[in-house]
Amino acid sequence: MGKDRYRRQTLVKGFGQTGQKILNSKHALLIGGGGLGSNSANILIRMGIGSIDIIDFDTIDETNLHRTTVFSEKDIGKNKALVLKEKLQSVNTKVRVKAINKKVTSNNIDSFLANTDVILDGTDNIPLRLLINERAITYKVPWVYAGVNGTIGMVMAILPKKTACFHCITPNIPLSKSQEIPVLGSLPAAIAAFQCNEVIKILLGKKPAGLIIYNAWTQCFDTLDIKRNPCCPICR
Ligand SMILES: [Zn+2]
Repeated sequence: MGKDRYRRQTLVKGFGQTGQKILNSKHALLIGGGGLGSNSANILIRMGIGSIDIIDFDTIDETNLHRTTVFSEKDIGKNKALVLKEKLQSVNTKVRVKAINKKVTSNNIDSFLANTDVILDGTDNIPLRLLINERAITYKVPWVYAGVNGTIGMVMAILPKKTACFHCITPNIPLSKSQEIPVLGSLPAAIAAFQCNEVIKILLGKKPAGLIIYNAWTQCFDTLDIKRNPCCPICR
């Protein structure tokens, strides 16, 4: 085991041994290890990211289980980040997986960003995404927004000062009226895969796709080329 583990992946044109080497040398930060985040961590660790820090202060609830491929009933009541480390580290012992059982706030977010090559959004609320966006742009760290609501999922890779930022697109993000966001169980795995595709592309220096919108009912995609808002207070 080890030498040929990524053989089928390195056969991919445009990825190859070079892409694998780059991926193996990169550090990702995942903020939020729930439905979306757990699926994204699962994918990136299997694909061979160099290291990943997973931050989540929340515990696993029975109502989380319908939309993740990682957690099981035995994990109910345990911290999401710690369970992800425990389960996914054994999938790929070459990846350095760190679990951080903390709530991300404006006071501590900077301490998590050191040496981060890309941030993955596994959160479920707009204020925290706006905070990630602001700090990511300040520190010039690319990040990939991902969100799910009902049967609709959205993903957008944000390159500081190069693409539109989350603040530029916030008026286009539907806000949930209820505290509990409805989610079709199959959707987060799909959106996590799209998010990871954008993460890999960023790390390999490829151009982001724009704002990807997927509807699970109609099986339709839209990819919108969002222009930077010249008046955006965050990325102008
Ligand atoms: Zn902006």
